[in-house]
Amino acid sequence: MDELFCIGCGAKIQSVDKTLPGFLAESVQKERNPKDLVCQRCFRIRHYSDVITTCLSNDDYLNIINRISHEDALIVKIIDIFDFSGSFVPAVKRLTGNKDVLLVGNKMDLLPKNVKPEKILGWLKMMIANEGFSVLDSILISAKYGNNFDDLMEMIYRYKGHRNVYLVGSTNVGKSRIINQILRRYCGAEADVVTVSTNPGTTIGIIGFPLSDGTMIYDTPGVINKHQYTHYLTRPSYKLTVPKKEIKPLVFQLSEGQTLFFGGLARIDIVSGETGDRINVVTYFANTLNVHRTKTERADELYATKLYSLLTPPFRPEENVPKWVFHDFKIRDNLKYDIVFSGLGFVTLRGPFNIRTHAPFVVGVYVRPAII
Ligand code: GDP
Repeated sequence: MDELFCIGCGAKIQSVDKTLPGFLAESVQKERNPKDLVCQRCFRIRHYSDVITTCLSNDDYLNIINRISHEDALIVKIIDIFDFSGSFVPAVKRLTGNKDVLLVGNKMDLLPKNVKPEKILGWLKMMIANEGFSVLDSILISAKYGNNFDDLMEMIYRYKGHRNVYLVGSTNVGKSRIINQILRRYCGAEADVVTVSTNPGTTIGIIGFPLSDGTMIYDTPGVINKHQYTHYLTRPSYKLTVPKKEIKPLVFQLSEGQTLFFGGLARIDIVSGETGDRINVVTYFANTLNVHRTKTERADELYATKLYSLLTPPFRPEENVPKWVFHDFKIRDNLKYDIVFSGLGFVTLRGPFNIRTHAPFVVGVYVRPAII
């Protein structure tokens, strides 16, 4: 059969994977004229002003991003403030040809309310500077509650001039929600939202929406961040691990030889409290995730016998969580650090400390200066 393409975005039509570009159920394909096919994503944008961001492999993603390098544009880079390292793709600037970049930290609603947004913004700026990355400006938003969207749009208009705008970010940063908010608020919910075909015949196009001044805002596909648990858990388990509401931090006083399990998904051992004192460990995970404390000498046995019962999620062996590996973190100074389990959560503790983390080998575990 000839290859078919979506007339909206140029993606190759396929009926295998809803999350990939060009998805259209086979039954629908049969009812339509092959010359007039619109993929599910474009259909939803046209009829419901609803965007589902598609996922791409790294290479395809880089190709798409690279296309932008031929245009003088404003890049709006979105990151998940709950998972900075997992969602920050430093190569974006080089790939887009060192364009002007605005940084948007999404999901601010997850952080405890008593933390000042200015503090988080200051932290974000420091993290970017540490990466050797410079941006024109940065802002925190919540796509879930629509916080700060007027300021975001004002910022975009201030910096873009007559240029088009491209939204970039890895999967799960909340890009679909952000675009939906922008469409509903600033492009008119019922407005004639057009999907713009790029190069017909390629496997993916970039979808654009007209702004009030005639320029375009484009949604680019999200690069899959494989270092996240998302890709290994069933939906019910995943729902329990992703924080949905403001996180309520838990405080543990731990001494050498003690361990905390985060469900059956990760673990942290206090190898030695270097000062011999107890260490305050504050945990920031979804409130629905079970945190269990035990002695390190019993931890392996507990994991072997109580995974799927006491240590949940996961709930079933079929969830196929990849094999665990450990990482050691030794801190000598007395500053506060976060140990981050990408896409799951983080713990905050003050140095000096010597700890060991355990998590699936595919999951990124990082240390960073404390966000709070
Ligand atoms: P995309 O892959 O970047 O398009 O991300 P989605 O828009 O599909 O969002 C990924 C997940 O993050 C979903 O579970 C969303 O409900 C959630 N999410 C997105 N934005 C926010 C936000 O501002 N706050 C919270 N709490 N969750 C969000």
